[in-house]
Amino acid sequence: MTNIAVVGTGYVGLVTGVALSEIGHKVTCIDIDQAKVERMRRGESPIYEPGLDELMTKNIQAGRLFFTANHAEGFTDKDVVYIAVGTPEKEDGTADLRFINQVAKDIATNVKQDVVVVTKSTVPVGTNDHILSVIKEHLVHNVDVQMVSNPEFLREGSAIDDAFHGDRIVIGADAGYAGDMIEDVNEAFGIPVYRTDVRSAEMIKYASNAFLATKISFVNEIANICEKTGANIEDVASGMGMDGRIGHQFLRAGIGYGGSCFPKDTKALAQIAANHDHSFELLEAVIRVNNEQHRSLTNKAKEAFGSLKGRRIALLGLAFKPNTDDMRESPAIAISQELLLAGAEVVAYDPIATENAKRVMPEGVTYVSTAEEALRGADAAFIVTDWSEIKSLELRAYEQYLKEPYVFDGRNCYSLEDVASTSLNYYSVGRKAVV
Ligand code: NAD
Repeated sequence: MTNIAVVGTGYVGLVTGVALSEIGHKVTCIDIDQAKVERMRRGESPIYEPGLDELMTKNIQAGRLFFTANHAEGFTDKDVVYIAVGTPEKEDGTADLRFINQVAKDIATNVKQDVVVVTKSTVPVGTNDHILSVIKEHLVHNVDVQMVSNPEFLREGSAIDDAFHGDRIVIGADAGYAGDMIEDVNEAFGIPVYRTDVRSAEMIKYASNAFLATKISFVNEIANICEKTGANIEDVASGMGMDGRIGHQFLRAGIGYGGSCFPKDTKALAQIAANHDHSFELLEAVIRVNNEQHRSLTNKAKEAFGSLKGRRIALLGLAFKPNTDDMRESPAIAISQELLLAGAEVVAYDPIATENAKRVMPEGVTYVSTAEEALRGADAAFIVTDWSEIKSLELRAYEQYLKEPYVFDGRNCYSLEDVASTSLNYYSVGRKAVV
């Protein structure tokens, strides 16, 4: 059992803290947001993540999981401190290290014993060295501090499962004993550990996200060419994925990636390259393709209707993917902006993310509490997020509630055969339109 503090209780920090307590460690999660801390103490997760509340409550009751907004209290008697604060994107695309720097100073002024600091946050190559220098500069007590880079690979929506069944745990350490210690901390997860140096670990995270984003933009471009040539992207992707060197994952065409990681991490990596006089042409193209892909449904609707002025569009799904309430960089934001700009009226429905959506979506969007309400009287439906509730909506619901039977499906939720037996005009991604 190790005494651990986790700083930052967002999607990564809270899941990390809860998972570490579940395997027997004593964990104190620290956040500057007092209201969040109060909720978590009651066993309520401030984020929507399937299975998280139950696991939190279980470990709070077992006396292994604690929450505080007080850094001094949180760091008391801790052998390991995990940093899991946000590293959002700055205007120029680089990673904003404001929160990281603050935590480094908090650690320096509060730790009274030797400590291993583990960076879970996604940070540019060289940042762990920078964190260590900030800590050393502000250190109040005469203690030893070692850094370990331990990037996180969890996926929102299946974060709990990923924490216990991930593909690998990457541990980057320049001091061998610190790496050994964090390997021991993680042993009970039973997940393969990959040991490397700090800078390579930092790069593994960016390279992994950039590679996955590349796969998405690649398949989206193939889908766009399928639409022009009469091929079917579902068949193409299935046939490609059977090649073990390619694999089936991340070969689903759609309206482009979003979320709190891929958009910012791809831009940050392009910037890291640029800062070292390297132009990362491939990644720049991946980003451009993705931005364009966000417009694909609206372009199809404009083509079908001529003009979208005065048209009422039902947006089904707002979160950047199913099973999360995270709206950061969701394609729904760009789509709504485009629709409003074209003079359309936007009525939106999401099973979980509506409250978060209201904070980031453009002004002028109307929110309703059922898919049926969104569809009723609309001229067209845009399927943006493939929540199972939305995927399982019967095709006749569109026929019944829409004023005009137009469906623009950004997630290829329905088979073309099923659609062919309806009266719908159906446009999807990388497949023939059914009109
Ligand atoms: P988040 O924005 O959801 O949460 C960050 C939390 O840190 C907030 O609750 C905030 O109040 C808190 N915080 C900020 N400054 C603090 C301080 N000084 N002391 C204590 N708490 C503080 O962030 P997230 O989505 O969990 O991401 C965290 C990091 O992990 C980022 O670097 C991100 O790139 C990376 N990451 C995220 C995911 C993901 O799916 N969300 C996956 C892998 C890696």
